[in-house]
Parts: sequence; C-alpha cells; structure tokens
Amino acid sequence: MLHVAVVGSGPSGVYTAQSLITQDRMPQVRVDVLDRLPCPYGLVRYGVAPDHEKIKSLQNNLRTVLEDPRVRFLGAVEIGPQGVPAQELLRLYDAVVYCVGAAADRHLAVPGENLPGSWSATEFVSWYSAHPDAGQNGFVHGARSAVVIGVGNVAVDVARILARGADELRGTDMPGPALAALAESRVQDVHMVGRRGPSQAKFTTKELRELGSLPDAEIVLDPAELALDPAWADPAALPAVNRRNIEAMRTWAGRPSQGRARRIHLRFFLRPVELLAAGGRVGAVRFERTAPDGHGGVAGTGTYEDIDAQLVLRSVGYRGVPLDGLPFDEGPGTVPHRAGRVLREGAVSPGEYVAGWIKRGPTGVIGTNRPCAKETVTSLLEDAPDLVRHEASTDPLDALRAAGVRPVEWTGWRAIEQAEAALGASLGRGPVKIADWEGLLAAARGEAG
Ligand code: NAP
Repeated sequence: MLHVAVVGSGPSGVYTAQSLITQDRMPQVRVDVLDRLPCPYGLVRYGVAPDHEKIKSLQNNLRTVLEDPRVRFLGAVEIGPQGVPAQELLRLYDAVVYCVGAAADRHLAVPGENLPGSWSATEFVSWYSAHPDAGQNGFVHGARSAVVIGVGNVAVDVARILARGADELRGTDMPGPALAALAESRVQDVHMVGRRGPSQAKFTTKELRELGSLPDAEIVLDPAELALDPAWADPAALPAVNRRNIEAMRTWAGRPSQGRARRIHLRFFLRPVELLAAGGRVGAVRFERTAPDGHGGVAGTGTYEDIDAQLVLRSVGYRGVPLDGLPFDEGPGTVPHRAGRVLREGAVSPGEYVAGWIKRGPTGVIGTNRPCAKETVTSLLEDAPDLVRHEASTDPLDALRAAGVRPVEWTGWRAIEQAEAALGASLGRGPVKIADWEGLLAAARGEAG
C-alpha cells in the first residue's frame, strides 16, 4: 500500500491524484488531497472568472477524481509552521506531492505602485470569486477610468468583468457584495496596456475575441499604435496564437464608435513608469512609449503618456511562494526539481515531489497540468519500491486528528455546496458562493442558514 499526500486540490493536485489512481504499476494506492481551504478545486473555483461557466464546469471532472474511493479530500488543513509541518507530513505518508500553485503576485517596482486604488489583479479576482481571504469591497468605488497593466489572460478576465454590466453577471455564482458593487460601478473606460507589441501579447485568441462580443462594451484600437509592430504588416511568420490574435485585432482597429456604454482600449508599446496620485489616491498611470529592440524586447523612447485611472489593476503575472521546509528557487519562484522530484542542494529528496505552477512556473492553461502531473507521478512510481514504509493498516488521518487537525472532509464540502445552492435560491439566483471563513466552516458543519 502506497499512501500519498497531495498538497493542493487545484487542477495540478487533482490531476496528480488521478494519475496515481489510473496507473497499473502500483494498484494499492491511497491518496489524500489536502487543501488549506475548506473548498476544493483551487484556481478553478477561485481564479476562473465566474462568467466562464464552461471552464468552471471542469469542476465536474475534478469531482469524479475526488469522489473515487481511493482518494480523500481533506480541506482546511494548512501545511507549514501554522499547521502540519512539511517534515511531519513526510513522516505520515510514503510520499508527498506539493501542488500549491503560485499564490503571490509579481511586482511592477515603480513609484506609486501601492497608492490607494492600485491593486493586483489577483486581489480583484479573489474578491469577485469569493475567496475567504479577500477583504475589501471598494475596488470600483468612485472610478470612471481603469487601467489594467499587462496583456495576459488574467488581464483579459479583469477587463471583461469591469466592462460587463451587473445584469450580465447575475446568473453567475459571484457573491452578493461584489455583484452589488459592480452594479454601482461608473467605470466607462478600461485601458488594457501592454509594454510590448500586439504580436507579443500573452492572451489567447478565444479570450481576446470574447472582449469584442460583450453586449454593452466596444473595443477601441488605434491602427497607428498597431503599425509600430513589425509583425503587424506580415504576421505569417508568427506562432499560430499570435497570428490569430492579430487577425482578431485587425477587425477592431480604427472602427468607428458604436456608442456603447463602456469602452475597452487595447494599448501597446507603453511601459508603466509611475502611478500618479490625485487627492491621496491613484489618479493616473504614466507610461513611457517603447519601440521594438529587434530582439523580441522593447526599449524606451523618452516620450511619455499619462492615462487617467482611479482604479489600477496590475496584472503582470503570478509568483510562487516559498513553503516552509521545502527548498525554493527565488529566480523563477519555483521549487527546484528533476522530473518532479524535489532537489535539495542538487540531490533528490526522497519522497518529496512537485507538480503544477510551483514546479514549472505560472504558465499554461488548466490542461497543461495533466502532462505535468503525469511526469511527476511517473517519477514517484519509479521510486515507489524505496518509498513504502507504512503498514497498510495505519491511516495518516488518525495521526492528523490526534495532532488536533480537524479536516473538512468530502461530506463537509458537499454541505458547503448545498448551503451555497440554498443561499442562491433565497436570492432568486443559482448557487452563490459563501465568501468568508466562518460561513464556510459553519456550512461544512451543517450549521448554515
Ligand atoms: P501572463 O500570461 O504571464 O501575462 C503577464 C503580462 O504581464 C504580460 O503581458 C507581460 O508582458 C506583462 N508584464 C509582466 N511584467 C510587466 C511589467 N513589469 N510591466 C508591464 N507589463 C508586465 O500572466 P497572467 O495573465 O497572470 O496569466 C497566468 C497564466 O494563467 C497564463 O498561462 C494564462 O494563460 C493563464 N490563464 C488562463 C485563462 C484562460 O484560459 N481563460 C485565464 C486566466 C489565466 P511581457 O510579455 O512583456 O512580459
């Protein structure tokens, strides 16, 4: 019997569990999927935008894995000095696979970055996704113009949520306070700004095109700005995704206004250099115009442009966070590994593995985690003969409980789902997420409503 702990129940964690139970090399396997939160699914629940119902429905596939009799979900279990130390986990299980993602934001490192009104995009995403650690409610309050810095898929998500009317979002599971705040929003202009050219934007074409199909918003794109990109004239040599992005943008460039309520301005070749204050909060972002340097990067040109913004969302990528007790590579923000085996000072650390963003950095779509998890599990199974140390009869959960850990198990999670359905029904909506720790834990104990 091989007892494996998977830390993190997002896609990489669940795909790791799935790989472990669908192989034939080691039929006697039990997997505990632990999560700091009482709810499973990681960024599928707390990152995928609420209006992306199709991607959200991936939860159904993940659920099948977590409901397999060989797999157990153990929520509200923190690994680290505040909870179960990593070394203790390794003592209880034959192997531990860390699938903890990349929980922090990258910084811009420009003056004014932390002015009131300037947020990381992930703070905004956490708020409208009802993450229990998300605090505040005033993102759009008093804002007419918003700047989103970065042109990746997260930037597209937050720009789209700002550009949608609350009526378009009522059918989602967005929590009531976020929906009410967005209903009050007076944001009319959303500027999504890339420091490089349109052919180098990181968003994918489906997500980009969706911006052009919002009922109450239109895209504003200046053909002169696009013409700065050498690839704009002949995109044929570009990778397919960049070529398709350019094709989509061509259809919008220079189009006359359709008089919609909100505008999404796609801007390029502008590097943020400072956030400017007005009345004690952010009032504008100063950008330096850039030009291609011929090597895929850009260089400053010494000309500047200020864009009005009472709300700034910095969407410049995620970053891994060091986990106490595990080695960490500050450069890429990942755990050093060889084919998923954790490396300590260059040597394999027996029984410790990584998968997902903490292994390869915050890139790729959800499906990218599948082969990533498979590689790690292949390594783990190769090592398995040296790993199995525990009696089949010893259950690590007993030891965790003895140490005072009170996990939210699958029945607790199902109770949360039922409470969210009941909350939604009471509001005349579909399921609505519970947004605070107390509410989630009460629901898990069957005390909701
Ligand atoms: P991302 O794709 O890496 O995009 C980050 C953006 O920030 C890039 O445009 C980058 O420009 C820019 N940037 C970085 N540092 C900057 C700086 N100092 N100043 C100005 N701009 C800067 O990251 P992401 O949008 O956070 O997405 C993370 C991952 O999640 C991606 O793999 C994404 O596809 C995925 N995701 C997918 C979906 C979906 O499929 N619907 C939704 C959300 C997220 P440079 O290119 O010049 O560095």
